[in-house]
Amino acid sequence: MKEISPTPPPLVQNQFESVRDLFSKNVVPSYGRFDLALSHGNGSYVFDVGGKRYLDLGSGIAVNCLGHAHPAILEALADQAKKLMHVSNLYYTEPQGKLAAEIVRRIGAGKIFFCNSGAEANEGLFKVARKFGHDEGRFEILTATNSFHGRTLAGIAATGQEKTKKSFEPMMPGFRHVSYNDLNAMRNAISPATVAIMIEGVQGEGGVMPATAEYLLGLRALCDEKKLLLFMDGVQDGHFRTGKFQSFQRILENVSGAGKFLPDGLSMAKSLGGGFPMGAFWVRTPFADLLGPGTHASTFGGTPLACAVALKILEVVEKENLAAQARKLGDWMLNKLKRLAEVYPAVVKDARGIGLMLGMELREKIPAFASSEKSAAVQFTNRMQAAGVLVIPAGTQTIRLLPSLNLKGHEAGEGISKIEEVVKSLA
Ligand SMILES: *Cc1c(COP(=O)(O)O)cnc(C)c1O
Repeated sequence: MKEISPTPPPLVQNQFESVRDLFSKNVVPSYGRFDLALSHGNGSYVFDVGGKRYLDLGSGIAVNCLGHAHPAILEALADQAKKLMHVSNLYYTEPQGKLAAEIVRRIGAGKIFFCNSGAEANEGLFKVARKFGHDEGRFEILTATNSFHGRTLAGIAATGQEKTKKSFEPMMPGFRHVSYNDLNAMRNAISPATVAIMIEGVQGEGGVMPATAEYLLGLRALCDEKKLLLFMDGVQDGHFRTGKFQSFQRILENVSGAGKFLPDGLSMAKSLGGGFPMGAFWVRTPFADLLGPGTHASTFGGTPLACAVALKILEVVEKENLAAQARKLGDWMLNKLKRLAEVYPAVVKDARGIGLMLGMELREKIPAFASSEKSAAVQFTNRMQAAGVLVIPAGTQTIRLLPSLNLKGHEAGEGISKIEEVVKSLA
């Protein structure tokens, strides 16, 4: 594969302040940003505008699944851009059809709708549920406490975290939250208006909490019994991150009686385009035609450009056996993190996760963090940045590792030893 664009040289002077100035004057301040302005990257490394290098263990919140500036992605982008970038969904284009077939082949009999983000993918599934229950007057969707489903109005109504809803009331009606991994609570929460259940296979923003196999199988049986649709939000935990294409495939691997398990709908985004924005949902066969012509649309959904990139990513993942590699490396890293929890119990409370979706929970009241208002997760992340590694806070106590699927063994080793250094400095 030929290199299309060489890595640009780092800028010599520190332009951070001037970049931040542009933001404070012109960009809506809805994000809590770190004091870092990034300029370019290559593989699992990114560089800031001062030229400092960081090992990127967050990959744009589980987006850059092949790392930064991957030559195959650059080539697919350039080749497709020369042919067609966008034509609208008034017409057929081959890349969209091919990508849909590739996704269906990896999940099960069904169809795909393409959109541009995770929130939008979930919105689409909510519309599938509304349509499914409409004639019986059923519309309510049950989601989990601590879940995350996006920042649109329906997204925050679906999300089981109060902080995302605050000041945006009244909430869109039709969502209720039930404690996660608690099948009885879910059964008890079902009302005559309930039409669907949506859960993440591994809660991401909620602190890297995997669903149990019994929970998934129990929800499937419950949904069958009560004629509810079972939706999974695979936006963060999908696309091979757990070592299988979708997290339910990994969680249910080798579990007896799980061979035929499928949800009724599944949302995707984040890693799907490897950094090129795109989202999608899969909907299982008996429900795949519920959204007929004129019922749902997205101008940018499934452009030939986005689909060409996504097809190339699937090809690279397969050819380079990245799912198996992610799994192996993830298992190795999890063991190392668990070991840290044993050696430094005053700093690390717990380590958990599946594949390359890992969480390390910090103890409450770490003395070194007492002098700052910032959460332990943010303060730990700051120290990691100083050490040259990007990690992502989840909640107030957990840091998340969501590296690219093609992270190399020595890079994983570098990340773990830097984490250990920071942990040690806090002990
Ligand atoms: C990130 C995320 C979303 C929202 O995706 P956007 O592309 O930001 O709209 C939804 N669900 C989960 C589980 C996510 O992690």
